[in-house]
Amino acid sequence: MKEIVVISGKGGTGKTSITASFAYLARSVAVIADCDVDAADLHLILKPTIKRKENFYSSFEAKIDPVACIGCGKCERVCRFDAISSENRIFTVNPLNCEGCGYCEKVCPVDAIKMTQKLDGEWYISESRYVTPLVHAKLGIGTENSGKLVALVKNVAKQLAQKSNKDIVLVDGSPGIGCPVISSLSGAHFVVFVTEPSVSGIHDLKRVYELAAKFNISAGLIINKSDLNHEKTNDLISFAEQNNILFLGQIPYNENFTQAMIKGLSIVEFSDDEISKTIRQMWTKIVNFVEN
Ligand code: SF4
Ligand code: SF4
Repeated sequence: MKEIVVISGKGGTGKTSITASFAYLARSVAVIADCDVDAADLHLILKPTIKRKENFYSSFEAKIDPVACIGCGKCERVCRFDAISSENRIFTVNPLNCEGCGYCEKVCPVDAIKMTQKLDGEWYISESRYVTPLVHAKLGIGTENSGKLVALVKNVAKQLAQKSNKDIVLVDGSPGIGCPVISSLSGAHFVVFVTEPSVSGIHDLKRVYELAAKFNISAGLIINKSDLNHEKTNDLISFAEQNNILFLGQIPYNENFTQAMIKGLSIVEFSDDEISKTIRQMWTKIVNFVEN
């Protein structure tokens, strides 16, 4: 079973549109994992029916029992995150500031503080409208640990793939180079970079490339909206050549991306034009590379 991750250094490159097309093309052989847990949107195209829903707990917050508290103020003094405040010797925790370190619990002389698990989000196993399993998640607003949630989503997707004899886990990663991207790349067999020919596109591609290189993962490059700046497109192709990145192809700017999105379809379902053929060829290249 091979794990293929699609990422983009920056947002807005068309990553999810392209991943949705790959999901359609791989529908009989893959399990899909949406690991863009901070702002998941693959479900808008795959329109999943949720089969299993679970809470995601990964962090803790302090809770003060006002009856047990004797108002000594030790907890307020040791909290480095200013999460504890008092009014008229009533001590309370601001959950948005609490980092769950547990120091206040340790110093409380009367055990009035307890660390409680925080609900940080939800994760789901669904059936996409392609009948392909989709594992996806929603991180709570203002919560942390997106990397842990990504790891969980990927593990569930891999278990599902093994159980159902699927050859591929196709991962829609998140933008940037932070924890969720690192977690997406861990254990992957192939990473697809989707970028665009702009200054920020090139800059962010270099950052994700450096990150993927640390994991020693083979990589491929897709340049979307390639006709927006031919010079920068050539720079990106040269970068791929110099760094042993498989050039998967380029897609000129095309309104079909938007129109397909409005209709809630992947591009390969929406039309059978040149763009659609190019994306099909890209997927074939990826599969051939990964299999060999
Ligand atoms: S758990 Fe840590 S961050 Fe939260 S209130 Fe206690 S000392 Fe402050
Ligand atoms: S350390 Fe314990 S007793 Fe003292 S103010 Fe905080 S909660 Fe109350």
